Amino acid sequence: MTTINSELIIDTNILKENISYMKTQLNEKSNFMAVIKSDAYGHNIENVVTNIDDLVDGYGVVRISEAKKIRKISNKKILLMQGIYSDDELHKAIELNLDTVIHNKDQFSIIKNNNYFDGLWLKINTGMNRLGFEIDDFLNLYNKYLYDKKFILMSHLAASNDINSLSNKNQFKLFDNLSKKINKDIKKSIANTGCVMNFPSHTYDWVRCGIGIYGGYFQDKNIKTAMTLRSPVVNVRNIKKGERVGYDGRAIAKKNMKIATIYLGYADGLPVAIQDGTEVMINDQIAKVFGRVSMDLTTVDVTNLIDCTEGDWCNFFSPKLPVSNIAKNNDLISYYFMTSIKSRVKKVYKN
Ligand SMILES: *Cc1c(COP(=O)(O)O)cnc(C)c1O
Repeated sequence: MTTINSELIIDTNILKENISYMKTQLNEKSNFMAVIKSDAYGHNIENVVTNIDDLVDGYGVVRISEAKKIRKISNKKILLMQGIYSDDELHKAIELNLDTVIHNKDQFSIIKNNNYFDGLWLKINTGMNRLGFEIDDFLNLYNKYLYDKKFILMSHLAASNDINSLSNKNQFKLFDNLSKKINKDIKKSIANTGCVMNFPSHTYDWVRCGIGIYGGYFQDKNIKTAMTLRSPVVNVRNIKKGERVGYDGRAIAKKNMKIATIYLGYADGLPVAIQDGTEVMINDQIAKVFGRVSMDLTTVDVTNLIDCTEGDWCNFFSPKLPVSNIAKNNDLISYYFMTSIKSRVKKVYKN
């Protein structure tokens, strides 16, 4: 028996190409950490690690369960980017030979009480105001406990995609000023994808890249979307001017139209808030969403397509139709689409 399904195709060659391209931005001493939290942004953590291990110097995760999966495959550095929240988690981290972020006093107490100072990344708040020590609090800890220790000084940028944002300048300034007040051998890390691409002079000792690997970074055409989300057309119909399509009749035909119905809806992970006019691709031609996304189906205007019949694939994003396209047109971000695809969508790994 054959049956139809929506598919998420993951092209690991594109992941590798994106990494190699970003690495050309780094200074010669900078190490490349692949951020693979949230199941490698939806690309399957084991699949990604197996394929990119030769190209990277380490991995960034949030959960210990993620680190465990990687440790079975790779001996490279693994950083718990949000640190540990209990003695028990610290012991698990030590067992798995993980590096760990320390971002506040509670976490610092845990490592101090265990007298464990290996593989620490001390996180500083330079303006994101989410995690990290205030600079003065950090300096107090440094002068008391850390002045003779090795660690990595880290921070995170709030607006790295915006090359003109003042906040980047301010964050770099605070970070650089602080680093001048501590041992000059202390290694540094502030760069995510946007920073690597926009501010390559701040790649320091470690960069932590996520979205660029997967191709959700939209400001450089050399970085390609590695995922294809596609599903077949299951019906094509003609409608007359003035007729409405889908729930609540949101879309009203201004002329006679041809409408294709696609086998993919919000229960597959396509946001219900997708706007009319959002671009999709059928037979290499652009078609536009017409009508509200429903649970299992989406309707698309194919009036101007040369060909479109039942069984044709409709791509919502792909290497040819960047995920940033659908994201920007709906006031969302690529990260959100990549991590939202549901398990009933069939995963296909292309190596
Ligand atoms: C997620 C994350 C990154 C990766 O950011 P991208 O924008 O995806 O490159 C880097 N650092 C930290 C601390 C993160 O949480």
